[in-house]
Amino acid sequence: MNIHEYQAKKLLANYGVPIPRGGVAHSATEAIYQSNELGGNQWIVKAQLHSGARGKAGGVKLCKSHNEISEFCDQLLGNNLVTNQTGPQGKMVSSIYVEEASDITKELYFSIILDRASQKVTLIASTEGGMDIEKVAEETPEKITKIVIDPAVGMQPFQSRQLAFTLDLPNEVVGAASRAVMKCYRAFRDTDANLLEINPLVLTSDNRILAIDAKMTFDSNALYRRPEIFEFRDKTQEDPRETNAAEHDLSYIGLDGNIGCIINGAGLAMATMDMIQHAGGEPANFLDIGGGASSERVATSIELVLSDKNVEAILINIFAGINRCDWVAQGIVDLLNKREVDIPLVVRLSGTNVEKGQKILRDSGKKVITADTLADAAYKVVDAWKSNK
Ligand code: GDP
Ligand code: MN
Repeated sequence: MNIHEYQAKKLLANYGVPIPRGGVAHSATEAIYQSNELGGNQWIVKAQLHSGARGKAGGVKLCKSHNEISEFCDQLLGNNLVTNQTGPQGKMVSSIYVEEASDITKELYFSIILDRASQKVTLIASTEGGMDIEKVAEETPEKITKIVIDPAVGMQPFQSRQLAFTLDLPNEVVGAASRAVMKCYRAFRDTDANLLEINPLVLTSDNRILAIDAKMTFDSNALYRRPEIFEFRDKTQEDPRETNAAEHDLSYIGLDGNIGCIINGAGLAMATMDMIQHAGGEPANFLDIGGGASSERVATSIELVLSDKNVEAILINIFAGINRCDWVAQGIVDLLNKREVDIPLVVRLSGTNVEKGQKILRDSGKKVITADTLADAAYKVVDAWKSNK
């Protein structure tokens, strides 16, 4: 799960990580109120959405008057902002964060990740902050420091000092940088985070270390024991297809193609995605109905897939073990009795109660294209999709 910058900063501040003072707002009036609370005569005003690269997309502005703040808020709030991380449809700006402007002399990069290769928490830092870290890694890898944490003992003070020393900081702030790094690590460790990125971590003209930006993501499987993190969830930032499916306890992953897929089991789902592509189509999603799916569950799954406007054909591919083909078939027929479906529907059933299932489909008199094998099903759905276009 992702959270907003202002939420991550609040969390980090609780651990003692130095951040600029700021306040969140949901309207231009509230943003001006926040700027008055902060005082001063210039403020950094930042769009809050689950994406980085907001600066380049016009989502971060140094404002020098209430008018400027107001105009900026009106332009952003409630609208979608497209960044190079959001995809072409962008993401809704759900709130605005107003911060005191900092006088920056140096922008650094700092992050903590759960590195899959080493299976260890890893700290990454660079003197080249504020820019695309992937680009730094590619062009000047020597400017990146990595420190791997031993899970048995956790992060050691010498490691945070070692990291701080690589950042080319004046001697008198190395201690502060090292403490900030240690506090970030504790925040990461205590919250089941899988990413914490501060880009940039800065040195100010009065020699302070400050986290100017903050991104955190958390392991969704651990949220049951982190209610305080779960509260940060913002549904406006999620793919509505996935949110909807999660509410029905269905595992759904939205993709960009036109063939809706309803399958049982992740392995069969992967094979089906591959086969659809092989047959010349692109999957619109990956919906796993799991084991022992009732006919209601099957009908709900079809409804969910149909609610995606990009879907132009549907493939239901079930290899029933714990599942039962007759329940699946009944779910399909129930749905077709309830509503019109004007796109091709291809069904491949195999396994437990397959004859019963096929009979239910046949006897229903509904327009369903049946298939015997995975390959047969993939070719049939792609053909039907093409001829229906
Ligand atoms: P991002 O574009 O989504 O990563 O948003 P950031 O929060 O990282 O802001 C983008 C850039 O705006 C930073 O890299 C800084 O260069 C600049 N910026 C943000 N806050 C301040 C500030 O308080 N003072 C100054 N001078 N620049 C800032
Ligand atoms: Mn940033």
